[in-house]
Amino acid sequence: MTETSTQHKNAGPDLTYQQYLQKDTLALPKCIECSKLHFYPRIVCPHCGSFNLEWKILSGKGEVYSTTTIRRKPERGGNYNVCLVTLDEGPRMMSRVDGIAAEDVEIGDKLIARIINNDGDCHVIFTPLQEV
Ligand SMILES: [Zn+2]
Repeated sequence: MTETSTQHKNAGPDLTYQQYLQKDTLALPKCIECSKLHFYPRIVCPHCGSFNLEWKILSGKGEVYSTTTIRRKPERGGNYNVCLVTLDEGPRMMSRVDGIAAEDVEIGDKLIARIINNDGDCHVIFTPLQEV
């Protein structure tokens, strides 16, 4: 019984989100009623309760909303960063910033998303956005 309900959940927005990531694309549900996006993907808009959602491909740009350095011994991979990123399109997601020292990440830093594919299990991290 439990397994069946898990399969059901996996066939929903989680799966669609993963399928986009596997194509190296960051996409989130956008509500057709209130025009807001949300993270983590759900079948119902958390802002207004509408089921009328469409998938929108995002720019991947965002900025640091909050940042925490997790201390770890060098032999275990060294310090890393956990942050909340506000995407340009509005939603906020938990992630980490790579490409600079964990303790150098600052609130307001501009970021760009990068999709990491671990044997088909994709997740999103961010690196500093290089201004042109
Ligand atoms: Zn809505």
